[in-house]
Amino acid sequence: MSLIDPHGRHIEYVRLSVTDRCDLRCRYCMPEGFRDFDTPEDWLTFDELERVIGAFGRLGTRRIRLTGGEPLVRRDLPALAARLAALPGIEDLSLSTNATRLAREAAALRAAGVRRLNVSLDTLRPERFREITRGKLDKVLDGLMAAKAEGFAPIKINMVVMAGVNDDEVEDMVGFCLEHGFTLRFIETMPMGETGQSASRRYISLQTIKRRLAERYELLPGTMPGGGPARYVQVAGTDLRIGFITPLSQHFCETCNRVRLSADGTLYLCLGQDDQYPLRPLLRAGISDTELEDHLRAAIARKPERHEFREKPGQVVRFMSMTGG
Ligand code: SAM
Ligand code: SF4
Repeated sequence: MSLIDPHGRHIEYVRLSVTDRCDLRCRYCMPEGFRDFDTPEDWLTFDELERVIGAFGRLGTRRIRLTGGEPLVRRDLPALAARLAALPGIEDLSLSTNATRLAREAAALRAAGVRRLNVSLDTLRPERFREITRGKLDKVLDGLMAAKAEGFAPIKINMVVMAGVNDDEVEDMVGFCLEHGFTLRFIETMPMGETGQSASRRYISLQTIKRRLAERYELLPGTMPGGGPARYVQVAGTDLRIGFITPLSQHFCETCNRVRLSADGTLYLCLGQDDQYPLRPLLRAGISDTELEDHLRAAIARKPERHEFREKPGQVVRFMSMTGG
């Protein structure tokens, strides 16, 4: 059983946003004073989430990533993680987090079955961190060290690289990841919402960063399990893998294997398009499991071929945090 979209791609990965709220306000993601969040009554409950992911699992989905907003802002997240990890078919449960709350949750998340972690970290300088995220760096570093001590592997650091903001820290971040055994991924800014569109003025192609690193390190072709869009290199003589996520300079839509479920139960078929399929009204109207599966198939049939971040940079008005980036 598998879900195949109109462009022949197997959809076997769901990014599940468990809340649109966040305790940080990264400049490229959420406006500083933003408060226009979904109300908790509109969030899918744990029972509803288990039902939807159960249906995806029956239709061939193997990987689930918990994301948001900041997923650790949702109360009892480890309990949800344990329920999803136990569903038939689900082989890989991972989490994307800003790590501010990771120190206290790391052990429970690992016990719940989360194995792989992605942590957003754009700078190692406290003042700059405050400038980019309006938060405190030391909490994030505490969270990262707690996760490392718990044995999560791999831990991937996601760095959004912005010209004149943090592009001078690329080499420092390589050193940090070498020291701690983390995987490093660089991400290009995407024009999601007004925040992403204004951050895109700081856009820098990762092809430039790769060339810069190649002058300093010997970069060998690399791979990484996980099924994501990053293209990896390995730094010769080390275990460090560096991934480049290049939605703008070299898009990867032809291998897209995912859909996103937002906290309010809307399926987004593409990060860079508005195509969506609301599941919450259907779930709350009492549809059967068979009908739910039919709706998931109908949603996948609407998956667009590709994003148009370059051609239509003003097109997507929702912020990254709303869709589950
Ligand atoms: N709060 C969690 C975190 O920060 O990892 C999970 C959600 S966050 C929306 C997921 C990822 O989206 C983060 O790595 C973040 O850096 C990235 N992101 C948000 N807005 C972006 C933008 N406009 N362009 C590129 N990446 C963006
Ligand atoms: Fe929050 Fe993640 Fe968006 Fe930053 S990128 S504001 S941590 S949701």
